[in-house]
Amino acid sequence: MRDRPLPKPVPVPVSLPTSMSMSMSWPSDRAGPTRRHLLAALAAGAAPAFLRHARAADRPRFALGVASGQPQATRLVLWTRLVGEGLPAQADVAWELAEDEAFTRIAARGTELASWDDAHSVHAEPQGLQPARWYWYRFSALGQRSAIGRTRTAPAPDAAVERLDFATASCQRYDVGRYAAWQHAAAQPLDLVLFLGDYIYEYPSAAQAVRPVEGGRVRRLEEYRARYATHKSDPALQAAHAACPWLLVWDDHEVENDYAGLQGEFLEADFADQRAAAYKAYWEHMPLPKALRPDNGAMRMHGRLDWGRLARIHLLDDRQMRDPQACAPRGRGGSTTVRLADCPALLDPRRTLLGPAQERWLAEGWALDRPWNLLAQQTLMARCSWDDPAGPSRGTYWTDGWDGYPQARRRLLSTVAERRVPGVVVLGGDVHANYVADLVPDPDAPRAPVVAAEFCGTSITSLGLDQARLDRARAFNPHLLHARSDQRGYGRFTLRPGQLQADLQVLADARDPASPIGSQGRYVVEAGRPAVQRA
Ligand code: FE
Ligand code: CA
Repeated sequence: MRDRPLPKPVPVPVSLPTSMSMSMSWPSDRAGPTRRHLLAALAAGAAPAFLRHARAADRPRFALGVASGQPQATRLVLWTRLVGEGLPAQADVAWELAEDEAFTRIAARGTELASWDDAHSVHAEPQGLQPARWYWYRFSALGQRSAIGRTRTAPAPDAAVERLDFATASCQRYDVGRYAAWQHAAAQPLDLVLFLGDYIYEYPSAAQAVRPVEGGRVRRLEEYRARYATHKSDPALQAAHAACPWLLVWDDHEVENDYAGLQGEFLEADFADQRAAAYKAYWEHMPLPKALRPDNGAMRMHGRLDWGRLARIHLLDDRQMRDPQACAPRGRGGSTTVRLADCPALLDPRRTLLGPAQERWLAEGWALDRPWNLLAQQTLMARCSWDDPAGPSRGTYWTDGWDGYPQARRRLLSTVAERRVPGVVVLGGDVHANYVADLVPDPDAPRAPVVAAEFCGTSITSLGLDQARLDRARAFNPHLLHARSDQRGYGRFTLRPGQLQADLQVLADARDPASPIGSQGRYVVEAGRPAVQRA
């Protein structure tokens, strides 16, 4: 059952020019609008700042857009956040969800209290909805109305489903590129976006920044909130959120580069406080239910969702419960690149990327009665050695990804093989490159049967490593069918009972907000045959 007709693409929500809305949102820790900002706003047709500051009702309260997520058969989550100077400590936010774009047939409505202690974020949870149906939603508060978002429910768990259209995306560092990829994705007829981590970056603006981020290195709650607001001020990202529901997992940069559990990259004593602040800001800014609000510095990220009888989608958290990276440089945490011969700890079977409880949860939760199991997780699973694994180094590996936890990877893929889990497709991000790979439990075994397919997607904006280096590594990694670090974009997928189609969409220039987009490669995976094929 294809639950169409397809709704029209959502227009880009109207919002202020970025610099204006940002400077109005957090006046206490940031200079007011500059003359340059004012001129830019005037050029864009906005009223001068002094006029818009004159009355509270004129301040755009929905400048960060709207979003929806966690679509289940009869419920989902609607998100927004009130911003701007002079907000009351608490404000009622009304929401409505309709069966039509004109809001003539209301399916659900309610009111949420947006409170200062959750950054005036709203997490509304309409229930009792129809499965496999498109809806439209909007919010109103303080005399203003939000942009309209479009969302949908999942099919009923026992429903036959002919097709699922989804995108994968990751790594949208704000200052090094523009969000043309989101503009293109928002115009596609997608049922779902799977966002696979690095929604924000905690760094100060890069030297080669094409647009600045506010402030310096992010460590405190107010700073994380401001950084989310900067990323979310982008109209193309807002359009992508407004176009369909998202499922999200986080990676490291929502907190700090290369963190592992409660250990930061710089081994700072107060890292637990930093992580708690980061997790809270993450929950505040994502379309996640109230039940996931972080508690005591922890937040449950992993979960699963059935898309009718077509697929089970498993969301993994490879940051919160992982063991620290092996063989870190002296006095530092985080990742490095090491020769296996110099780092026997890599092979310690006690080390895990998911933590023992999540590993067990995954092993026990595979769908054996559906053709597809999609694994939405953070990083590259296929082995990628930078020299010959049969040589004296025994292989040279980056320790932050699955290569840093090879025994955990072997356990996961062995379970897939032993239990004959159907249609396992590993989806990832993190490495700012498009990798397509066949996955085997033991990469050294000759003619090992392929047990799963992998599509690890390139970044929306974040810069990739040198393509020449990747080209040289190809010879040592025959399971990698595709390895391109030189282009930015997103993954476009169509899943049917018998086949997965993948199209690696890449931009001509990620610094150009109007960049054209095209295909870097097309692949298919047939049900019952895990090896990836060129389309
Ligand atoms: Fe990244
Ligand atoms: Ca990352």
